[in-house]
Amino acid sequence: MRDNYMPELRKDPIIGRWVIISTERGKRPSDFGRTEKRISPKVCPFCPGNESATPKEIIAYRPDGSEPNTPGWTLRVVSNKYPALIIEGDLTREPMGIYDRMNGIGAHEVIIESPSHDLDLPDLPVKEVRNVLWAYRERCLDLQRDHRFKYILLFKNHGKAAGASVEHTHSQLIATPIIPKRVAEELLGARKYHDYKERCIFCDIIRQEISDQDRIVSESESFIAFEPYASRFPFETWLMPKAHISNYIETDIEMYEEMAAILKDVLMRLKIGLANPSYNYVIHTAPVGEEYREFYHWHIEIIPKLTRVAGFEWGTGFYINPTRPEDAAQFLRELIISREKISV
Ligand SMILES: [Zn+2]
Ligand SMILES: [Zn+2]
Ligand SMILES: [Zn+2]
Repeated sequence: MRDNYMPELRKDPIIGRWVIISTERGKRPSDFGRTEKRISPKVCPFCPGNESATPKEIIAYRPDGSEPNTPGWTLRVVSNKYPALIIEGDLTREPMGIYDRMNGIGAHEVIIESPSHDLDLPDLPVKEVRNVLWAYRERCLDLQRDHRFKYILLFKNHGKAAGASVEHTHSQLIATPIIPKRVAEELLGARKYHDYKERCIFCDIIRQEISDQDRIVSESESFIAFEPYASRFPFETWLMPKAHISNYIETDIEMYEEMAAILKDVLMRLKIGLANPSYNYVIHTAPVGEEYREFYHWHIEIIPKLTRVAGFEWGTGFYINPTRPEDAAQFLRELIISREKISV
């Protein structure tokens, strides 16, 4: 990384959306016109034995007690080698005429979910998926102590169409000094609903989905996965705890194994039913702080990349979804998955 390199956050003055200008990720203006020839690196930076290809590990699970940054781990968390935001520096916010800018301060970490190069997240045993979800929790607990950060987004890009540049299974975390706009919109909607009805909108949605039944994909004692009523994309799937929990880290520690089992189940259904599609998931959790506790309810949004966002969507914020959520749910729910794929 260049010395004194600092990404920038710029605010769109019309709708208040922040954009990260992060040139370290790599493209000069003249690079875009070239036909992309992606040369996959010969050594996978996330495979055991190649620990030196990543920044030093932040945490790792090493049941054999092996040394940091050597093989023997079952999960590693490292800083992103090409971070969108960087951890060191002051959070100076300043005007530039009518515009607003901030230093691009944040954390950008990679969770390497397994030492196996050829397994996807749903292929892992439930206990290993649980460790991934547990690592998310540990990193959130640590990062929320840094008062510069207002939000921590956990997400996964699987497959090229979803933006994954390394195929070895991994997820990412970005802590930002502002609450992202998409999250702020959900917070606002949930707050208004709560002001009016004195109930959590997400809890009400869960009640409705359990009563309607036809959009449910998978259900366990404490979790539900369903296609949202107004799904933007075919097979968009939301997974959430049935009990009202606003922040991911407040989930009862006993529930992580069950969460892992239902996440594995849903991802396996998508993988088998849709022939291993590229997908993204994001965990929407309450921002750091008490004030969201009553009305926000954490959830995972899983979005397979089956359609492309095109002109109409970009121009309007309307989405055209070619698949009824009820049909998508029925298809996923009725898939027969062999026992060995979901057990363990
Ligand atoms: Zn690998
Ligand atoms: Zn709720
Ligand atoms: Zn959400």
